[in-house]
Amino acid sequence: MSVPTIEISAPLRIRLDGDALVGNWRWLDARSGSAACGAALKANGYGLGAREVAIRLADAGCRDFFVATWAEAQALLPVIDGAALSVLHGVRADDMAFAVGSRARPVLNTPEQVRRWREAGGGACDVMVDTGMNRLGVSVADVASGLLDGLEIETLMTHLASADEDLPVNGLQRDALTDLRGKTSARRLSVANSAGICLGDSYALDLTRPGIALYGGVPRMEAAGDIRQVVAIETQILQRRRVAAGDMVGYNGTFRATRAMELAILNLGYADGYLRCFSGTGYALAGGHELPVIGRVSMDLTAICIDTCSDLHEGDWVEIGYDLPDAAMRSGLSQYELLTGLGQRYARVWS
Ligand SMILES: *Cc1c(COP(=O)(O)O)cnc(C)c1O
Repeated sequence: MSVPTIEISAPLRIRLDGDALVGNWRWLDARSGSAACGAALKANGYGLGAREVAIRLADAGCRDFFVATWAEAQALLPVIDGAALSVLHGVRADDMAFAVGSRARPVLNTPEQVRRWREAGGGACDVMVDTGMNRLGVSVADVASGLLDGLEIETLMTHLASADEDLPVNGLQRDALTDLRGKTSARRLSVANSAGICLGDSYALDLTRPGIALYGGVPRMEAAGDIRQVVAIETQILQRRRVAAGDMVGYNGTFRATRAMELAILNLGYADGYLRCFSGTGYALAGGHELPVIGRVSMDLTAICIDTCSDLHEGDWVEIGYDLPDAAMRSGLSQYELLTGLGQRYARVWS
């Protein structure tokens, strides 16, 4: 007997603004001058949904995408037919069966990965050079001594450790990469992430690799007026209740009412990435009112004060204050964490 599938709607959703996403990419592309402007899609497009992001950016003209792992690459290759895809973590032995013969390129990070790729006759690749961050990449000295000889390199890249700050190390890292121009087979050099693009023309080189700014993150204050918010979080009221003076609210009663109050209990909690650091500092929005979070955020639920909104009822939707720079300041989380932590329970609704 076949059981009919009933579509169950979610009581919380992320509204995603496709125009803002594409607008942010176009702005970063313009700021990249004559360099190509790519897009980092790792971690499921920073939590937004990598496929949906890829389709829109490929349509806008983006031709260089970046993911972290081969599983991410496998999921995206079918939707970005004409574009290049680079896998930032390179190739483990376990990746080779898929990677060799894949249209995606590994970004080789270690002498071991270089050896593995060369011995397999892997073909086109990218290479990460470490210029001071000491995270991933082969050393400048290894490149100078011929480690990369014979590889078919598309992009030679490095990653800036502090592009969101004005420090001499930014220029030193860039120069360490550009000093390698002509010393390998690389067709292109690339240094700039979102913040790096904002550092100025001299960081664009041949290819830029923005991530967070595509998704509404403001990587440096210069970009504040130009980057548009892409994500809006909305959730349904599960219960409306009145508390009396002296009542406590939520786990451990960290909030105790000093007067009678109207509360709404929301379908949203730390399992949805709305972490406990929003307790007492986050807010929701309805009818132009800011409605403060009351007491502790719990796993699936959050209380807000709705004294100012007599017309909010069980089942109504409210927006959560989630402007990324502001929410980062309030919560102490980074703009990256605010996006990548969003969970699986949301409906993701694109406009
Ligand atoms: C994630 C990542 C980017 C994108 O960085 P943003 O700060 O999000 O713009 C670029 N390059 C590399 C190597 C990365 O890992």
